[in-house]
Amino acid sequence: MKTRRTKTSWKEVGPKAVVQNAGQQGGQITVNAEYLQRIKVLSEGNEIENCDFRAWLKNYAPDDIDHVVKALSQKYFALIDCKECGNCCRVLELEFTELGLHTIAKSMEQSIDEFKKRFVVEGIVKPCPALKGNLCSIYEGRPDVCRSYPHLEKPDFIFRLYGVLDNIGICPIAFNAFEELKAKVKWRSTV
Ligand code: SF4
Ligand code: SF4
Repeated sequence: MKTRRTKTSWKEVGPKAVVQNAGQQGGQITVNAEYLQRIKVLSEGNEIENCDFRAWLKNYAPDDIDHVVKALSQKYFALIDCKECGNCCRVLELEFTELGLHTIAKSMEQSIDEFKKRFVVEGIVKPCPALKGNLCSIYEGRPDVCRSYPHLEKPDFIFRLYGVLDNIGICPIAFNAFEELKAKVKWRSTV
């Protein structure tokens, strides 16, 4: 999904730590509309710094970067309940494989032809019709690509950084993992 990006000062929106911990209750991070709006604004406003970090990672990421990122992903998956968020399902333009389309159609008890006719436009599903409120109504049977999003636990993290940058303004797990990664690898901004 394309979004218009504007530079926003940290002074206007508050420090990262506040956003990272905002809404934490009993160790969990509560994701609501306000929280999602804040990570969107912060990600857009911090675009230059994030691009600088991306360039640094390309050259200086530690050898165990995939392991570090996977651990951060698991940490934030444990702190954030996707079943209360659903932002990726609402916001992304979803391009499912044929198998993925079959999986959703079958879970919704529809024929693939009927499903495609109703919900697929030029190969895109948006928003996903399986989403009911903030909850995926076929959560246990959702396609693999949904299970793996925001794809932080796949190998070759540093070759997928553009995709990561696209996701941090959408997904609280990606946002928080990316912010904590900066500290984990002792990166210092030069911009
Ligand atoms: S199938 Fe479920 S998890 Fe996947 S995009 Fe649709 S609502 Fe989201
Ligand atoms: S993967 Fe990210 S955006 Fe999607 S439901 Fe979970 S926390 Fe929300």
